[in-house]
Amino acid sequence: MPLQSICVFCGASLGHDPAYQQAAEALGRTLAERGLRLVYGGGEVGLMGKLADAVLAAGGEVIGIIPQSLQRSEIGHKGLTRLEVVDGMHARKARMAELSDAFIALPGGLGTLEELFEVWTWAQLGYHAKPLGLLDVAGFYQGLSAFLDQTVSAGFIRPPHRGLLHQAEDPAQLLDLLQQQQGTVTPKWDARQPI
Ligand code: AMP
Repeated sequence: MPLQSICVFCGASLGHDPAYQQAAEALGRTLAERGLRLVYGGGEVGLMGKLADAVLAAGGEVIGIIPQSLQRSEIGHKGLTRLEVVDGMHARKARMAELSDAFIALPGGLGTLEELFEVWTWAQLGYHAKPLGLLDVAGFYQGLSAFLDQTVSAGFIRPPHRGLLHQAEDPAQLLDLLQQQQGTVTPKWDARQPI
């Protein structure tokens, strides 16, 4: 089945390198060009706002999910196709996951990493089979990627579960990888089996 809605996690800040903003905008345009709906945290600030603006400017659809408590600090985006205001962070993440067919992380901070790792652990446990990808902008994720490989060689993450997280430098290439993985079965998690 073709992907329809893509959840993107990204910084509520812009970061120092202009390449991060350019990548957020390029991803936004690519989503709109492919007719893919963006699901994201609903904020107007940082890369989140740039991404949403780029999708909207290219004629695409954007659904934002924001907790009531963050409406002020992240500034709920007023131009979205739909902005849902939810009770808290758990409700936000659950709703973003429910509405999406795949997940992408752009550069970001603790929130971005936490959200990515949570959906990845859910995939590992077989709670969903939705593809996951990192958009590695200007080498931002290279250190994390090397560390994740180390967790495999150290015997804590199984290679097929490591392989669930795709990585590319180009939005179109990353979306192609996610589309190809769509529908494949996640290897079963069994903590009793040695790695
Ligand atoms: P950051 O990557 O830290 O700039 O945050 C990006 C987004 O993640 C923002 O919308 C934050 O509200 C959100 N966020 C921050 N902390 C968490 C958390 N513990 N769980 C889920 N999302 C978070």
